Amino acid sequence: MTFLIVALACVTLGLGLWVRGHNLQHHAQKANSYRRRYIQLIAHIELAVIKLNSLANLVPHVTHAKTLDDYESCLRLMESLLSALNRLPNFGFDVQHLGEASPMVQRLEDKIEETYKRFKSNIEERPFLSHFLKNWQQETTPPATGCYFCSRPFMRAYFKKTTIKVDGISVKVYGCHICLAELKSRRKIKVLYFIENGQPVHWSLVDGYRPIEQYWDLNRRRPSYQTQEAEWLQEPGRGDETGKD
Ligand SMILES: [Zn+2]
Repeated sequence: MTFLIVALACVTLGLGLWVRGHNLQHHAQKANSYRRRYIQLIAHIELAVIKLNSLANLVPHVTHAKTLDDYESCLRLMESLLSALNRLPNFGFDVQHLGEASPMVQRLEDKIEETYKRFKSNIEERPFLSHFLKNWQQETTPPATGCYFCSRPFMRAYFKKTTIKVDGISVKVYGCHICLAELKSRRKIKVLYFIENGQPVHWSLVDGYRPIEQYWDLNRRRPSYQTQEAEWLQEPGRGDETGKD
């Protein structure tokens, strides 16, 4: 009888632990998914902020009132987006909470693009101002789409340009702070490749792979990490951090 009670208690305890483990795993997956989408949102907003700041430099040279109204709408959209972002928790479980902000980001990106086109055609009427358009292109095009090693989408605040030596060849690359810290401490690092026609291909050479959209869904593409020995030739902080050559 005692044996039966002990056995029953063990089964109940085991079942309880399994259910709890299952719940925790489920929660961890949801938290992970939320965080990935949240960071993705921030990456898009960061780029929109850079573009808006850059458009601000063109404002004094725009003469069409309607075009300036468009710019003001962009600012208003950005303001609403930032207040929506303020209401979102940095960490969470329910990706639907991000649902309000995501379409706003898309609307803002479209509006900025449309406004830039109007600015451009207005400025193009006076060719001596064309250098402003060139500056806009330089300032708003990220120098890399993602970290050379892991492909994390480029964000100015977290990336550094650095020189590494791989197989005796020096290469200038942009790396995220996580990979660069790893490279510094271990002198070797995992680099993201994808298998294409049976051969590993560095992520930057794979057609259709856009880190800002797909980095957080890597598992869908069968990543194949290759560990590379690499020597870091430049200390962080001494390199060019502005993203310009
Ligand atoms: Zn990285």
